[in-house]
Amino acid sequence: MTGETLFVYFLGTSGALPSVSRNLPAILLKWGSHDILFDCGEGTQQQMMRARTGFGVSEIFITHWHADHYLGIIGLLQTLTFNGRIEPLTIYGPDIVSEIVSDMARICRTRLSFSVTAVRVQPGDEYRFSGFTVQVCRADHGIPAVGYCFTEDSRPGRFNREKAIDLGIRPGPLFGKLQRGETICIRTEEGERTIRPDQVLGPERSGRKIMYTGDTRLNQKELERFGTNADLLIHDATFDSQQQERAREFFHATAGDAGICARELSVRKLALFHISSRYTQTALHRRDAEEEFSGEILVPDDLFLLEIPFHD
Ligand SMILES: [Zn+2]
Ligand SMILES: [Zn+2]
Repeated sequence: MTGETLFVYFLGTSGALPSVSRNLPAILLKWGSHDILFDCGEGTQQQMMRARTGFGVSEIFITHWHADHYLGIIGLLQTLTFNGRIEPLTIYGPDIVSEIVSDMARICRTRLSFSVTAVRVQPGDEYRFSGFTVQVCRADHGIPAVGYCFTEDSRPGRFNREKAIDLGIRPGPLFGKLQRGETICIRTEEGERTIRPDQVLGPERSGRKIMYTGDTRLNQKELERFGTNADLLIHDATFDSQQQERAREFFHATAGDAGICARELSVRKLALFHISSRYTQTALHRRDAEEEFSGEILVPDDLFLLEIPFHD
């Protein structure tokens, strides 16, 4: 699982109303050959075609059941069936996920070629996959809503080749075993010697981490569940700071709120997301966030592709 690439596709970056330049919310993480979709606004399947992501989506995580975040699932299910998909699909979401998923499968009026499972998530949940974890936190959005955090498993520390040779190990397959965390046994003049991986590996290297708030008001305390130092925080920034009142009233965040969270959680990069269709420019969003956060700030357009490199 080490050495996987990690790409973030901003498939749709609009707020509740799409515009000609921004489609409804959807973020695809491509981790190695694993495709994980967060929210699936109407038209997401066409955005996937434009971004050439393929249709290999393995899990869908929905933040809440406002229609701008999930109506794209219905068309996607139909297309996947026409494509002859047989791999099961799991849809995670809060609250009424089971009802919505069965309603959507029914509305398709097509016999799906694969099974769809609904999983009801709760704040505090942690879902383990092979190589990564997805955690859930509560969002502050006026209806049951959650945010998600993708965390890659940590990788073994760096292999100290010189030390391994000093310990009497010959370069070859035994090096690989130690690098994979296996204890080995070698024969020396003094007899058998056991060598543990920690004798030749540096400290464990933490995996990459991406937080996605979904729709929310300022929600720093809940996001703290996910820890600090994320590589990327994708945060609701529906409004700029001139609309602070409106943001509170409609349970959304401003770009300044997003900046506060980015600063307090010491993230590496902040992406402002869910931009209201009232804005044709995002210069004010960026400035508001910059007043709070001195790290890198992105206001991605639709189809923007971001690679998240390893830390070292
Ligand atoms: Zn929304
Ligand atoms: Zn919403």
